[in-house]
Amino acid sequence: MKIGVFALQGAFIEHERAFAALGAETTEIRRKEHFTGGLDGIVLPGGESTVQGKLLREEGLLSPVKDAILNGLPVFGTCAGLILLARELSNDPNVYFGCMDVTVKRNAYGRQLGSFRADLNFAGERLPAVFIRAPYIERAGAGVEILAETGGKIVAARQNHMLATAFHPELTDDLRVHAYFLRLIRGEA
Ligand code: GLN
Repeated sequence: MKIGVFALQGAFIEHERAFAALGAETTEIRRKEHFTGGLDGIVLPGGESTVQGKLLREEGLLSPVKDAILNGLPVFGTCAGLILLARELSNDPNVYFGCMDVTVKRNAYGRQLGSFRADLNFAGERLPAVFIRAPYIERAGAGVEILAETGGKIVAARQNHMLATAFHPELTDDLRVHAYFLRLIRGEA
C-alpha cells in the first residue's frame, strides 16, 4: 500500500507518521514529477487552502490530480484538504478540485473558537477530534455519506472513494480515521 501525501504546505508529516504506524508506505508529493502512477491513495493535509491551491496551480498539479480523483483515485482530505475537494465554498469564490458534492464554509467557527477539541462519533466509533480554524460542511449532496457531526454540523463525510474531515485526525494518537481510509482503499469500508 502506497499513499502519496501532498507536502506543499501544512500538517503533512503527521499523516506520514500515522500511516507508518499502520504499516502503509507514504511518499511526499511536492512537484508534478512526484505525482506518478503506482499510488493507492492520496492525502490532502490541513494547512491554508488558499496557499495550497496557489502552489498546486503553480506546480501544474491541479488538473492532473483532479483528473486522477475523478477517475477513482482514493483521496483523504483533512481541513484545508476538505476545502480543496469541495464543489462549492459558501464564503469564498474559489473552487480547487471541486470533486466532492459538498458546500463547505471556511473558518466556520469564527475567531472565538479558532481551535478546539471534541469527542465525536465517526462511522459509529467514538473518537477525539482536533479542530483548527476549521471549516464545516453546510450541504452534502445525495451521494455523500455523513460520517460525523458535532454541534449539529457535518464534520466528516465520504463520497465513494473520497473521504474528508473538517478536523485533524493526524494530530491525535488515534489512528482509526487513517485505518478507515486504508480500508476504503481496499474496498473494505
Ligand atoms: N482555515 C484554513 C483554510 O481555510 C483551514 C485550516 C486547517 O486546515 N487547519 O484553508
